[in-house]
Amino acid sequence: MSILLTGGAGYIGSHTAVELITAGFEVIIVDDFSNSSPEVLNRLKTITGQNIPFYEGTILDKTFLNNIFYENDIEAVIHFAAFKAVGESVEQPLKYYKNNITGTITLLEVMNAHKVKNIVFSSSATVYGINNISPLTEELPTSATNPYGYTKVMMEQILIDVAKADPEWSVTLLRYFNPIGAHESGLIGEAPNGVPNNLVPYITQVAVGKLKELSIFGDDYNTLDGTGVRDYIHIVDLAKGHVLALKQNLGAQGSDIFNLGTGKGYSVLELVKAFEAENHVAIPYVIKPRRAGDIATCYADASKANKKLGWKAQKTLQDMMRDSWRWQSQNPNGYQ
Ligand code: UDP
Repeated sequence: MSILLTGGAGYIGSHTAVELITAGFEVIIVDDFSNSSPEVLNRLKTITGQNIPFYEGTILDKTFLNNIFYENDIEAVIHFAAFKAVGESVEQPLKYYKNNITGTITLLEVMNAHKVKNIVFSSSATVYGINNISPLTEELPTSATNPYGYTKVMMEQILIDVAKADPEWSVTLLRYFNPIGAHESGLIGEAPNGVPNNLVPYITQVAVGKLKELSIFGDDYNTLDGTGVRDYIHIVDLAKGHVLALKQNLGAQGSDIFNLGTGKGYSVLELVKAFEAENHVAIPYVIKPRRAGDIATCYADASKANKKLGWKAQKTLQDMMRDSWRWQSQNPNGYQ
């Protein structure tokens, strides 16, 4: 029996593949490389010592997906495959709705046809919108401010409704806070296309000399130092959360939702200082106006995952800073 990872060559998918294999699961990866690289598979082989079965293609292609389910004995799916750039989603909403929503529906139809009814879904703290107050708990109302966020809200709803209509389904929604860091081998990590949108890849690219300076978006928020506060979580802790969520999912029915965060927020300036102190590299920065759509503070109430999954983030901010830098400094151009 295997676990199919859609988008398994991506940042979160690849780290989850490693932790699943370590935990004794057999893994199959499907990816279209729209935001990842074939080199990830070589790196995964070096780390795990295994040739992970791999299919290149899009989950929009039903025939392609059907073949994967005919050829393999699949027990459950962890569904990572989705577009994730907020700005691009505003410019190209149809691209996002088609890939994320139609892709998910196609996947669910194929799973239904093959009677594979266990799914763990990659959601995001973005579904808490801009009006909820941290710490964020799973039962708060969801909303969005851009097409990317709406696709996450809608995909969650679709999955919840599927589980409601057919009690044989087991659906687990994982709401990620801000994943950063990399596998401690430095062989896999986050490799954004073009100029990074997210804070930590931006910092590491300044550190490695690819970008001149960091722009800090706003220093007038109502936070300890005026810069935005987020719940940064080490990617390996996040990946281990998937293993525990999958184990729970395999013995459950219906749907359940878990925050995967540390429960603690750090500001942009705290992060910059922690990176400099841990790695002895200076990060020049300038203060810029607030970025549209950003909120002051966002962090998880992570107690539900702790109670029901037995999961808790273990790694420190220093671990995150050190591992992010090891990955970037060993791979200045990502997987290229
Ligand atoms: N941020 C920043 N400069 C950047 C990228 C991000 O100051 O180049 C800030 C952003 O305003 C937010 C925090 O860093 O307060 C985390 O942003 P990111 O895009 O990484 O995650 P998200 O906004 O999705 O939480």
